[in-house]
Amino acid sequence: MKTEDFRRHAHDMVDWMADYLETVEDYPVRSQVRPGDIAARLPLAPPSEGEELSAIFADFKNDVMPGMTHWQHPGFFAYFPGNSSPPSVLAEMLTATLSAQCMLWETSPAATEMETRVLDWLRQMVGLPDGYHGVIQDSASSATLCAILVAREKATGWRANQSGLGNDGRLVFYTSEEAHSSVAKAARIAGVGDEFLRAIPSDDTFAMRTDDLRAQIEADRKAGLKPAGVVATVGSTGVGGIDPLDEIAAICREHDLYFHVDAAWAGAALILPEERGRAAGIEQADSIVFNPHKWLMTNFDCSAHFVRDPDALVKTLGILPEYLKTVGGSEVIDYRDWGVPLGRRFRALKLWFVIRSYGVEGLQDIIRSHIAWAGELAELIDTASGFELMAPRSLALINFRHLPADVVDDAAIDAINERLLAVINDDGRIYLTRNRIRGRFAIRFSIGQTTTTRAHVLDAWRVIQELAAGLTETRVKPEDAC
Ligand code: PLP
Repeated sequence: MKTEDFRRHAHDMVDWMADYLETVEDYPVRSQVRPGDIAARLPLAPPSEGEELSAIFADFKNDVMPGMTHWQHPGFFAYFPGNSSPPSVLAEMLTATLSAQCMLWETSPAATEMETRVLDWLRQMVGLPDGYHGVIQDSASSATLCAILVAREKATGWRANQSGLGNDGRLVFYTSEEAHSSVAKAARIAGVGDEFLRAIPSDDTFAMRTDDLRAQIEADRKAGLKPAGVVATVGSTGVGGIDPLDEIAAICREHDLYFHVDAAWAGAALILPEERGRAAGIEQADSIVFNPHKWLMTNFDCSAHFVRDPDALVKTLGILPEYLKTVGGSEVIDYRDWGVPLGRRFRALKLWFVIRSYGVEGLQDIIRSHIAWAGELAELIDTASGFELMAPRSLALINFRHLPADVVDDAAIDAINERLLAVINDDGRIYLTRNRIRGRFAIRFSIGQTTTTRAHVLDAWRVIQELAAGLTETRVKPEDAC
C-alpha cells in the first residue's frame, strides 16, 4: 500500500471510529447474531490476490460489526468493565504504527523506561509504598501464574525449574472459594493440580475465613504436604468479596508462604483514598495484580503487576539464550524476564496517554461516580417491591434478583430470573450477566464504562423493571389471573 493510500484510509477509518464512539448507543449492547451467522459471511478460503482496502473496510462494516458486542456502550453493565477512552485508542494507533517488539531494553529503550515510570505512577496512585516494582502483563491470569511460579520456586529452594516437581514434596496453595478461575488455571499450569489448591470457605461477606485457612495449613503440614502460597482477592468476580489481607499476611509470615493479591477489577478503585481501607494489608503482599484494562480507561490488554522482589521473578522466569544477549547488563531492565511471553507490545504508551490526559483527579472522578451510582441503584433495588439484593453491593458491583410476589419456590425463582436475564439481553438496551450465589441464580450489574452516566444507570433500572413486569404479564395468563 502506498503511503498516500494509507493516509487516506487512515483518515476514513478515524472518521468512522469517531462516529462509532458517538453513536455506539444506537447498537444493541450484546451482539444479537446466532452461532455461525458471522462465519457464514466469511469466505472459506483466503483470497489469492490482494483486495482493495475500501472493499475490506466495507465488509468489516457489513459482516463483522453485527457480530460485535459493544463493550464501550454506556449500557454495558455485564461482567466487569473493559473500558477504554479516546486517548488510549490514539496511543494504541501509535503503538501499532511503530509495531515495536519491546522484549529487551535495547529493542526499544523508551518502551522499557516508560513502563518503569508509568507503573511507578500507578503504584503511587493506588497508594502502594515504595519498594514495589511494576511490570505490565497481558492479563491478570498471567500475573497470577507468574506469582504461583515464583512461589513454587521459592518453596522448592529454586529447584522446580531445574528438576521438576516431585523431589520436594507436594506443594499446596490456598485461595478462597470465591477466587477467580484464573487461580485454578495457574495452579494447573504450574503443576500444583486442582486437588492441592485449597478453596477456603468464605464468610457472610464473601471474604476468606482465616480460621479455616490457618486450620487447613496446619492440617496440610501435619499430613506431610508443603504449603507454598496464598492467593487472596480484593473484589471477587461474583460478588466483589474482599479477603482480610492483614490477617492473611500475618498467616503467610508465620508459615513462610508467598502472598499474592488478585485485585484485577477492584484495584483501580484504590486510586480513591477513601476506598483504600478495604484493602488494608495489601502493602504486605509479595505481589499484586490489577487491570487498568478493566476499570482505568485503558483498553485491553494492560495488567499492572507489582512485585516486592523482582529478582525472584527474574530468577523464576529468566532464561538467556545467546541470541537474546544485549548490552546494558544490570543497568537496564529486560522485561522479557518478568513474564511468560518473550515478545512484548509497547503497552505503557496508552497508560501514559490516559494518565496524562485525565490526570489522577479525572480518573478518580469517574470511578467515584461509578461507585456512587451503584450505591443509588442498590438502594433502589433494595427498596423496590419484587426485587432483592443477593449480596451487599461491593464498589460498583450489584447482584440482585426479581422476586415475583406469587412465586415462593426457589427453583421457580431461579428460572424466572434466568428468563429475565435472557429477555434483558435480547432487548439490547443494556447488557447484564449471570451469577449464582450460595446456590441461587442472581443477575449481576457492574458499572464501569467510561461514558456511562447516572442517567444510563437509572434508565437501566427502568428497563429491568419494565421487562420484569412484561414477564409477569406473560406468566400470569388471563385465565390464571381470574
Ligand atoms: N481475577 C479477577 C478477580 C477477575 O474478575 C478476572 C476477570 O474478570 C480475572 C482475575 C482475570 O482477568 P484477566 O482477563 O486479565 O486474566
